Amino acid sequence: MPSFQQAQSIILESVNPLPATTVSLLDAVSMVACETVPAGWDLPTFDNSAMDGYAVRAAECESGRELAVAGSVMAGDRYGQSLPPFTAVKIMTGAAVPDDCDAVIPFEEILLEAPESITVPAGVKKGQHIRFTGEDVRSGETVVSPGTVIRAAEVSMLAATGITTVNVFRRVRVAILSTGDELVEVGADIPAGGIINSNSPALAAAVLEAGGEPVMLGIARDNRESLREKVTAGLGCDVLVTSAGVSAGERDLVRQVLAEVGVKPVFWKVDLKPGGPTAFGLKGATPVFSLPGNPVSSLLTFEEFVRPALLKMMGHKRVFRPAFKGILDEEIHKKAGKASLLRIKVLRDGDFFRIRSAGNQQTGLQKTLLHADAVALLSADSSFFAVGEKVPFHFLADSAMLAEEGC
Ligand code: AMP
Ligand code: MG
Repeated sequence: MPSFQQAQSIILESVNPLPATTVSLLDAVSMVACETVPAGWDLPTFDNSAMDGYAVRAAECESGRELAVAGSVMAGDRYGQSLPPFTAVKIMTGAAVPDDCDAVIPFEEILLEAPESITVPAGVKKGQHIRFTGEDVRSGETVVSPGTVIRAAEVSMLAATGITTVNVFRRVRVAILSTGDELVEVGADIPAGGIINSNSPALAAAVLEAGGEPVMLGIARDNRESLREKVTAGLGCDVLVTSAGVSAGERDLVRQVLAEVGVKPVFWKVDLKPGGPTAFGLKGATPVFSLPGNPVSSLLTFEEFVRPALLKMMGHKRVFRPAFKGILDEEIHKKAGKASLLRIKVLRDGDFFRIRSAGNQQTGLQKTLLHADAVALLSADSSFFAVGEKVPFHFLADSAMLAEEGC
């Protein structure tokens, strides 16, 4: 049985990035570029004003000099005429600087503004308040490199330099299959003893959060025929994730059916609590994750085992969330001999993180996960963690909101 870390490494070594695809800029958001993208042109594409004011020749601007206003130029316009000596052109931010001008004086620096003339201040310098052609980016300069995650800033740059599509690793299609005779789909009538299939929407949400595309297979019943049909359909996707039916119960048939359809078992259990009955196998290059049925265990094992694999398949270089150490605010007891995932609350205390349990840690309780900011990993060899001890943890979201002490 692999340890927690061994299971994570085995999974990552077993999966590879998917092929590339060319998509529009908005479809590329959160995906990973797999090409070098050069700027299509210079940015700015022409010399333009950084301020609302007057375009002038700096050499004509000794302090107190009066310049006649020869005209005006708005954003989107061009001032096509040549400019007589000792004249200025009213100019708006983003408007092309007239060819004869080499400086802009902002309105607020003009000494006197008459209807048809201005009086210039001291110290007007050549080039002031002008955004020059190519000063931001040169045509051909690399704006996105392989491995870059496409975010709003990348979309902004690509759009501004004339790029409309980008080659990215494609989104992973993840088949999600819940198993169990007791399960009822959300919204349906619940018979006595029935349990809502919350794992399918929960795991689909986690796939979406990771940037993947969930494919809902619904519920397989606890019999070979039903399982075989759904599992076979799921193997047409890039990844198959099942939940429940992998424990030691007499109806826990998932493992047998996966073997029957040719999924090669890689491991069937992890030395971890919660999440011990997590299985991983491969049908050719298609990874198959069999997660525990318990909603807390299935989401936590998705977070720790499935999410990093999906990220690697979508070309991400950083597949694990950043790891931190937190100082325990309360003592924690656990069983020795098994690594344990603790749902925790994190409090920022100056430069330190203080952590405590997010609530009752029984795996049947979903509320504790709802209130958790992060997950701490308690090592297998200890059974007691004292107040003040440092414990590794990671947040459950990349942009976790952190309360300062006392907030
Ligand atoms: P099992 O692994 O089949 O023994 O299931 C463990 C527990 O998780 C049982 O209480 C199941 O009813 C529950 N469970 C299994 N699948 C789901 C699901 N899709 N949604 C919510 N609870 C589930
Ligand atoms: Mg079951």
